[in-house]
Amino acid sequence: MFFGPITGISLIVSLIVVLVGAFVRPIFFFVMTKRAELFAPKRQIRKPIVATAIVILLVSFYVSVTAFVVTKTVDSPHTGMLAFASTLVPCKEVDVTPTSKNVILRLDDVQAYGWSDISVRMMKDTIEHDMPIVAGIIPKGVAGDLMLVNFLERQKCNIEFALHGYDHGAISDFDELVGEFELLSYQDAALRLEKGIEEINAMVRVPITTFIPPQNRISFEATAALADYDLFLSKSGNGYYDYDAKTWNYNDNTLVSAVEVIKVCDETFKKGDDVCVIMLHPQDFLDEEGVLDEGKYGEYLKLLDLIKLSEFSTVRFSDMIALHSSK
Ligand SMILES: [Zn+2]
Repeated sequence: MFFGPITGISLIVSLIVVLVGAFVRPIFFFVMTKRAELFAPKRQIRKPIVATAIVILLVSFYVSVTAFVVTKTVDSPHTGMLAFASTLVPCKEVDVTPTSKNVILRLDDVQAYGWSDISVRMMKDTIEHDMPIVAGIIPKGVAGDLMLVNFLERQKCNIEFALHGYDHGAISDFDELVGEFELLSYQDAALRLEKGIEEINAMVRVPITTFIPPQNRISFEATAALADYDLFLSKSGNGYYDYDAKTWNYNDNTLVSAVEVIKVCDETFKKGDDVCVIMLHPQDFLDEEGVLDEGKYGEYLKLLDLIKLSEFSTVRFSDMIALHSSK
C-alpha cells in the first residue's frame, strides 16, 4: 500500500532514465552520424548530455523518495499525490493580523458533493480578497469529493478546518428534530468527534481546534467531551447561538443583505466584543431550482468588499485561540 501511483510512476520514470542513460552514447552517435553502432566511439559523447542524465536521475530519485514518504503518511493515494504536489507549490498565506474589530467568516456545511462547488467558490473568492476563512466541515465521507479535497489541500494555509458534527444528521426525539450533538451522551459525542477528526485527517493533515455544533446546539455532556480532544466551541461564552451575524434570515427565509450583516457586526463591536462571527452556508445563495443564483452571490462579494471598507480584520478561530493563549 506504500507504493501509491506516484511511487509507481516515479519508478517507471527512473527506469526510463536509466535505460536512456545507458543507451545515450549509441543514440547520440546515431543522431550525429546516422550510423547505428551499439558501442559508439567514446569521443562522440558530450559532457552536457551525461550531466543532464545525472540530473534527471537525481530528480527522479528525489521524487520517488518524497512520494514514498508522503504516501506513507496520508491514507489515500489521491491525497498522497496532492500532499506531494503541495510540497512543490506551497500554499501562499494571506496576512492575518487581529485588531479590536475581528470578523470570522464561518462557512458551515462544507461537505462531499452537497453544494461543494459553491463552497469552493466562496472560499476561493474570500482568499482572493486576502482574507482567511473557516470551513465548518461535515466529515463523513468528505475525502470522496476530490474536487473539494483538491481545493482544501491547496489552500490549507488560509482555511481553518473546523469540525461541524460528524454526519450532521438530525436526530428525532419525540417527533421533534434536534441537532446531531444536542442530546448526545459523553461517550457518544466522543465517538463522533473521534471519527470526525479521523476522516478530516485522512483528507488533509491539519490541526483541528474548533467545533461548530450542527444546528448550533450541543448537550452539556458533549461540550465536556470537546475538552478531551482539545476542541473549542466556535464562539464560547456567548449564549445559546454561537454566531453574531448571518447571511440568511430563518424567520422569513430570505437572504440578509451585505449592508445589514455589516451593521450587526458594527453593533457587536460597539458592545465591546472584539470578534464578530458571520455564519454562512452555501445554500444561502441558491435559486428556487437549487442552483447558484449569481444575483444573490453578488451580495456575498459585496460583503467581502464592505468588510475591507469597514477596516475590520478577518481572522479564524484558531488565530484568536493562539492570540489568547499567548497572552
Ligand atoms: Zn450545519
